[in-house]
Amino acid sequence: MNTVLHVDTSEVFRVLIRDRFMHHGWRYLSADSTAGAMEALERNEVQLIITALELSGAGGEEFIVTLADSPFRDIPVAVMSSTESLEIRKRLYDRGIMYFIPKMIKPDRLVGCLDRLIREDEVSIVLRDLRIAVLDDSEAQRDFIAGILRDRGIGNASFFERPTELLADPGEYGVFIVDIILPEMSGDQVIYELRARHRNSVIIAISTIDHVNTVSTALSSGADDYLLKPFGEGVFMARLKSNLRTYLLLEKLEEKNRELAELAVRDGLTRLFNHRYLYERLSEEIEKAKRYIRRLSVAMFDIDHFKRINDTCGHRTGDAVLCTVAETIRGCLRDTDILGRYGGEEFFVIYPETGLGDAAASAERIRVAVSEARTEGWDEPVTVSAGVLELKNENLQDLVEEADRRLYRAKEEGRNRVVAEGP
Ligand code: GH3
Ligand code: MG
Ligand code: MG
Repeated sequence: MNTVLHVDTSEVFRVLIRDRFMHHGWRYLSADSTAGAMEALERNEVQLIITALELSGAGGEEFIVTLADSPFRDIPVAVMSSTESLEIRKRLYDRGIMYFIPKMIKPDRLVGCLDRLIREDEVSIVLRDLRIAVLDDSEAQRDFIAGILRDRGIGNASFFERPTELLADPGEYGVFIVDIILPEMSGDQVIYELRARHRNSVIIAISTIDHVNTVSTALSSGADDYLLKPFGEGVFMARLKSNLRTYLLLEKLEEKNRELAELAVRDGLTRLFNHRYLYERLSEEIEKAKRYIRRLSVAMFDIDHFKRINDTCGHRTGDAVLCTVAETIRGCLRDTDILGRYGGEEFFVIYPETGLGDAAASAERIRVAVSEARTEGWDEPVTVSAGVLELKNENLQDLVEEADRRLYRAKEEGRNRVVAEGP
């Protein structure tokens, strides 16, 4: 968890900043003097400091000076102040502060400012661990970029003089900085190759050519940005960070999409595949089995007298039993078998490449394993009945109906058994 230290005497701002950071999942610490702040830093690991200039005792500027001379000098500092003086701002930047937040801005603007600051800090954290590859045939340019990165504590950079060296390097890099005019090969070609291999890396082209065609060629080869040489430190870092910010947002979006895709095919309680997904897979597997003349079997399981568990101990215990049974069945199967929750207390297994005998044996192993498993809150054995069959020429609907008929017969014949024969 990230921690912010807020140094200020104003209660209003304390509440505002605490709320905003806690909203983003940060821990909030506060102090109102240099001494209090230093003490908090001794005791806690802090990722960001926000300080006012008006503090108890000596002012915020003295705190910043004290900080710069302490073991905590690398923690990013944001100053919040109502001063309009550009002179003071410049002096503060010279003393090493990272951000300046004007204090009189309206609360909703301040929230926007803080949110950007929080995101900015995420970028700084990423920067610290980021691997950067720089390809430029000019030694002076490589040294210049190396200096910028070194000054910011971004230590993990590799430098390449020739395109072939970089392309032969198997390392994973989050950022590539690629000169456009190179010996042997054009920068565009290098970018094209890099993009093909590193879909999610940031690629920034750098060049002295200020022509629309060159810029658009670099971008269409796969660069995210184009930086005109000569550039200063400020512009280089700003563009690097802005590209990283986009990259981080995209990464989060992709992760969310993966989560959503996973949720769409899973049952919420047992985490097994859901009914819809089972049908999709079954239809695919039937098609495959018919086309390639492969064997395919299925089994339908239903917990015996499950209602009694709900009625005696409540739904929560019922749910826990469902999870135990799901886990037990999972544990009996191969990775290639497909298990889903078919309905309330019904489970369905698709066995690709499997004949009736093997499927029935698997169902029997499951029957025994379930009867031996126990769930907290329900001491009695839980049993299942099952209907198993192998695909002959049925369509999906007929196959499922026949599995269900066999399951029904298992129930009729006394439950806790597997039926694998037809009528
Ligand atoms: P049988 O041996 O004939 O299968 O008897 P049974 O009691 O297992 O079958 P029945 O179909 O009468 O009852 C199934 C019960 O499963 C009824 C329903 O309330 C319960 N059930 C369905 N889904 C869930 C669930 O997600 N959680 C819990 N706790 N109970 C569920
Ligand atoms: Mg049942
Ligand atoms: Mg049932």
